[in-house]
Amino acid sequence: MGQYVAPLRDMHFVLHELLQVEDELKQLPAHAEMDADTINQVLEEGSKFASNILFPLNHSGDKEGCHYNKETQTVTTPKGFKEAYKQYVEAGWAALACDPEYGGQGLPLIVNNSFYEMINSANQAWSMYPGLGHGAYECLQEHGSEEMKRLYLPKLTSGEWTGTMCLTESHCGTDLGLLRSKAIPQADGSWSITGSKIFISAGEHDMAENIIHLVLARVPDAPEGSKGISLFLVPKFIPNADGTLGKRNGITCGAIEEKMGIHGNSTCQMNLDGATAWIIGQPNKGLNAMFVFMNAARLGVGMQGLGITEVAYQNALAYAKDRLQMRSLSGVKASDKPADPIIVHPDVRRMLLTAKAYAEGARAFTSYVAMLIDRELSHPDADVKKDAADQVALLTPIIKAFITDNAWIATSDCLQCYGGHGFIKEWGMEQYVRDARINLIYEGTNGIQALDLLGRKILLDNGAKLRKFGAQIQEFVEENGLDEAMTEFVTPLGDLGDKVTKLTMELAMKAFQNQDEVGAASVPYLRIVGHLVYAYFFARMAKIALAKQDSGDDFYKAKLATARFYFARLLPETAGLIRQARAGSATLMALDADLF
Ligand SMILES: Cc1cc2nc3c(=O)[nH]c(=O)nc-3n(C[C@H](O)[C@H](O)[C@H](O)COP(=O)(O)OP(=O)(O)OC[C@H]3O[C@@H](n4cnc5c(N)ncnc54)[C@H](O)[C@@H]3O)c2cc1C
Repeated sequence: MGQYVAPLRDMHFVLHELLQVEDELKQLPAHAEMDADTINQVLEEGSKFASNILFPLNHSGDKEGCHYNKETQTVTTPKGFKEAYKQYVEAGWAALACDPEYGGQGLPLIVNNSFYEMINSANQAWSMYPGLGHGAYECLQEHGSEEMKRLYLPKLTSGEWTGTMCLTESHCGTDLGLLRSKAIPQADGSWSITGSKIFISAGEHDMAENIIHLVLARVPDAPEGSKGISLFLVPKFIPNADGTLGKRNGITCGAIEEKMGIHGNSTCQMNLDGATAWIIGQPNKGLNAMFVFMNAARLGVGMQGLGITEVAYQNALAYAKDRLQMRSLSGVKASDKPADPIIVHPDVRRMLLTAKAYAEGARAFTSYVAMLIDRELSHPDADVKKDAADQVALLTPIIKAFITDNAWIATSDCLQCYGGHGFIKEWGMEQYVRDARINLIYEGTNGIQALDLLGRKILLDNGAKLRKFGAQIQEFVEENGLDEAMTEFVTPLGDLGDKVTKLTMELAMKAFQNQDEVGAASVPYLRIVGHLVYAYFFARMAKIALAKQDSGDDFYKAKLATARFYFARLLPETAGLIRQARAGSATLMALDADLF
């Protein structure tokens, strides 16, 4: 049903022309040998796996969903999922960006990032199984003991085992400080955990032989709240010293959820009944370690937003070129046909270009952040590493929330392009809207991402990280301000940069008086900064496209047209958002809860 062709041309543009990734990687000893051809070959192969193996399972997986067997407490994934996973493991995709020390291929993360865009486009529900395994890998690599790394990382690297993150409990979602699962120390140095977790993605399934759960729980006498949370490793099967599977552990799936979308992914209630566990890091310092997983997952969810925007766009575009309705307002365009294709209508173009611009903006932005992570992990200079880490911290909530909010807008617009046919299951568009919706919720709701951005990442460090990123934008504005052809991009970019600086100072003053001012402004504020980031990348992309618009390659004409659309039709939203962010908390807080 429908189609998915990986946007390799645009990926090459972003990686090689916008980010000059080959030069960038030469600075990193671990990746200095990596060249553009190798990157392109990997992406080409990845695109085949996404389009030929995963995409055909997307609709059937949605329709069939996962099956729970109450007797055996096991989950069977939709037909074809398990076989696709086997191919994924055998082809070495799981190991792409993992450390060679544990059997990985050691490729830069930026390549893995583009691969994930493609598999998310092809099948978001399926892609969550390996995605969570990768998050567990990163967390153990940074915080696990040497023994854990030896035993678990090779299997997570190969993809033979997958991972989960077990945070949520029925009474505690956003506020992890409320969690109740208990960990009791055992004489042999292990722990015994009892508790119940809900909404655990990929908590139980039949795709891998073992599942490594990373579980948050409280040790005896732990301080209340988030200062008393510890992180534990709880394998489904306890491995023997040689990595073979041993005893079945006391962590089981009690049920799976019926839900709005991502039906192919099992969302599990997980019961821990004296499950054997090993602590990761120090007692009561678990949140700190879990943040490695959470940050990886936040970037991963942003990639889900990008993937689903791209595939929805491709299908809406094909439909709009084919569907004949009404004549163009400016005169007949397809005189050989009874009506014009709907792509002639300005409003249909608005919807298509919105999705196209949000996909291209997100691709540039996420690839840039993936490159920063490679720098953070592998650059020899500690100052460069620190600088990259600061930018990643600042940009992570924007990736998670701005891209997924835009994906919700874009998938809805793409469905709208189909008229009534979009609402009908047969065309597959309604699945994209349903699947896109969860991305605004899990991994910290988008409202919480906005609080993280404004409260923690900006106000708590007195705007230092934002100023650094702003200086980079300012430099671009100064470099290109005198170029007449760039004025249409540089002027609004510079203007928005100034407005963000002013607004941030204003909000800092207000927050000093009343912290509710942060919560009242944070959601529009994140969207404004998201647009600042996109305006910066669209201006940079426009600069390249301007220089090559007469090259005979229409790709650059399209890029320039998309950038112009973005500046004319999407960026102006910031004027209203700035007014909202300035409106203060009074009108939100005035009404007594009883009077609602
Ligand atoms: C399909 C699916 C898969 C999931 N996968 C996992 C998983 O693998 N592992 C896992 O641990 N969890 C998982 N979750 C749980 C998910 O992360 C939580 O649902 C999410 O973090 C929100 O928690 P909650 O549902 O308890 O909502 P609540 O925390 O009750 O929040 C309700 C509303 O209040 C808002 N809110 C709460 N506090 C504040 C505040 N201080 N300021 C402003 N607004 C606030 C929230 O933004 C939200 O809109 C999954 C959930 C779903 C639906």
